[in-house]
Amino acid sequence: MYTQTPAAFDYRRASDVEEAVRLLSGDGDARALAGGHSLVPLMKTRFVSPATLVDLGGIVGLGDISEDGESLRVGALATHASVASSELVRSRCPLLAEAAAQIGDPQVRNRGTIGGSLAHADPGADYPTVVAALDGRVSVAGSGGEREVAAADLIVGVFTTSLERGELITSVSVPVAAAGTGAAYVKHKHPASGYAVAAAAAVVTVEGGSCSAARLVIGGVTGVPEVADAAAAAVVRAGASDEAAIGAAGAKVADGLSGALDDSYASGEYRVHLAGVLAQRALREAMRRATA
Ligand SMILES: Cc1cc2nc3c(=O)[nH]c(=O)nc-3n(C[C@H](O)[C@H](O)[C@H](O)COP(=O)(O)OP(=O)(O)OC[C@H]3O[C@@H](n4cnc5c(N)ncnc54)[C@H](O)[C@@H]3O)c2cc1C
Repeated sequence: MYTQTPAAFDYRRASDVEEAVRLLSGDGDARALAGGHSLVPLMKTRFVSPATLVDLGGIVGLGDISEDGESLRVGALATHASVASSELVRSRCPLLAEAAAQIGDPQVRNRGTIGGSLAHADPGADYPTVVAALDGRVSVAGSGGEREVAAADLIVGVFTTSLERGELITSVSVPVAAAGTGAAYVKHKHPASGYAVAAAAAVVTVEGGSCSAARLVIGGVTGVPEVADAAAAAVVRAGASDEAAIGAAGAKVADGLSGALDDSYASGEYRVHLAGVLAQRALREAMRRATA
């Protein structure tokens, strides 16, 4: 049945992470509520009907952004708008701020959070692709304590993560951009929502004019962010502006993309084609930035 009102639920407001974990681990189906921009529509259409909503909004410090040695730590409750406008993020990891600024529209950016985006695991979401390309780490709290998971291992399927029941994302850490590195994110966005129909994030290191390391991740095409190591290898040891190497990387992208999503807006074949083109654009721009 399609409705516009959610089923009845209990509302609890956690005052700290420990309480949130305890409430989420209790009996019955409990869900964390962050920005609500993905969860509430699902509840209104009754695709999900949790018995309890655990509001994270009262947890002081959960949205803080800080520098932590050689990494930048972004609290799970940081909104897309706060990440996009943070001077710390813009100076230490500009790619993260750029990606946040491309999410949805101002309303979505003002409410949606980085933790909610990663936990929701929408194949068209921007952060999962970008944070995986940056080799980010996700901190998770659960009843058994805290653990860290590589961002590339967090999402295991469409709207599916490796989070255990009751676990809460508390923060995301990405390395501070080092000299000689360049990063870029390019997406073909859906004209209505802004979600990625296909996207590519590239992070490269250039030393002495040639690329010494490259990481490429494709989003929006299959159910998960796809780490395209074989394609990225095509630009390693090539000159930073070697167009043949960038073209070879783009051509290899398709090899790693099986089971492409297919819908009324874009066929799987079109998504895979876009991925190859966007990968080249992202690599080219990352190389340019690394050498600028
Ligand atoms: C019109 C529209 C356009 C959008 N366009 C884009 C876009 O272009 N790009 C993009 O990336 N996204 C887009 N989004 C999604 C948006 O970024 C959402 O805000 C995001 O997906 C979910 O974040 P949230 O904070 O709103 O999470 P919520 O809706 O509160 O929660 C989403 C899910 O994550 C769980 N959850 C929330 N926080 C945590 C946590 N800390 N730990 C564990 N689980 C948690 C919830 O229980 C729920 O299952 C769009 C959304 C809308 C409505």
